[in-house]
Amino acid sequence: MVEGGWRSLTFSNRIDPDKFFCVYEISGGKCNDTSCERQHFRQIALSDDEILVELGSVMEGDTDDARNSYRDGLRELITDMRSRKINDFETVAAEISLYRSSFFNDTSRVVRLTKGP
Ligand SMILES: [Zn+2]
Repeated sequence: MVEGGWRSLTFSNRIDPDKFFCVYEISGGKCNDTSCERQHFRQIALSDDEILVELGSVMEGDTDDARNSYRDGLRELITDMRSRKINDFETVAAEISLYRSSFFNDTSRVVRLTKGP
């Protein structure tokens, strides 16, 4: 399984590398100081829906043809999952990742989902 993988992946897109994380939140607390200028988890968190939209909106391919066929395939995949009533987040996210890797037939271009080695 990709424990926390999808979410940490998307978190990382929103993290501002120039900002420190709020010490209260790092130590497990919740910062209620509205003037605090540090980075907070609530600012970088995405909902499951937002993550899926982001995954689905990534355009892949080096040419217009490739991008079109990627998009068509992705649309088919999503339609298919809907018709099979698959809406659990982990499954949908994993299927999209699988689609990406099979589209390129190149595992080196698959987004790394797990943390650490
Ligand atoms: Zn704070």
